[in-house]
Amino acid sequence: MPPFPAGCVWLVGAGPGDLGLLTLQAAWALAQADIIFFDALVNEDVLRLAGGGAEFVFVGKRAGCPSPKQSDITALLVSAARKGKRVLRLKGGDPYVFGRGAEEAQGLVAAGTPFRVAPGVTAGIGGLAAAGIPVTHRDVNQSVTFVTAHDASGGLSQKLNWAALAAGSPVLVIYMGVRLMREIGASLLAAGRAPDESVAVVSHATTPRQTVLRTTLERLAAGDAPGAEAPALIVIGRVVDLAPVLAPIAPALVEA
Ligand code: SAH
Repeated sequence: MPPFPAGCVWLVGAGPGDLGLLTLQAAWALAQADIIFFDALVNEDVLRLAGGGAEFVFVGKRAGCPSPKQSDITALLVSAARKGKRVLRLKGGDPYVFGRGAEEAQGLVAAGTPFRVAPGVTAGIGGLAAAGIPVTHRDVNQSVTFVTAHDASGGLSQKLNWAALAAGSPVLVIYMGVRLMREIGASLLAAGRAPDESVAVVSHATTPRQTVLRTTLERLAAGDAPGAEAPALIVIGRVVDLAPVLAPIAPALVEA
């Protein structure tokens, strides 16, 4: 395993939820870290892998409160590293997938703070696999497009070219899209995707609360997605049809 020197920051992906999907590198870093800054989407069971003396700092968004500013989080990381601590920044999924991890890394570089990134299993790939949805299949798609539905304003991103996405992306995996499902559905229909195209909404992937809702684009556009709740991924495309075949054959998870 790579060394985790004092005064260094590790940006670590915690995976989509299931503790078993944490990487060995992440577990190794957790065991050594002096201080751990973690997000709302991180499974807090993961923190039990930390050493006895580790300090924990929640830097996610709490209900009703604005999320901490990115520059403030970076400043906390830099300041802890300058005190000679081993600093672990734990983020849900993969740190560089729609999680502003790259912005934090840029901030560390700008401050001259040594850092390393430990990639994680992103929800839009591993979370879907766990729900029986492969992001590629040779008979279905030669490409897959990952999309974040909203921009900084919280509305449907104006930067997205829905006509191009509709024409060129056989499979779309949409992060942070539940609140905007009507707009997403309407945009794709307007751009020519078939109303009966398969859609899945996978909520709480890889956790005991995982649900997989299968529907169509037309029903998505009508907001007809009972039980869909954040965090969730919306998948549009024929790979969704494989879910009934590929849903894992395993005993249901039983709480100990
Ligand atoms: N860096 C993370 C994504 C952060 S953006 C990653 O690589 O997975 C947050 C979005 O990720 C959520 O709005 C949701 O769309 C998705 N997400 C994260 N964890 C999820 C989970 N367990 N189930 C479904 N979606 C999840």
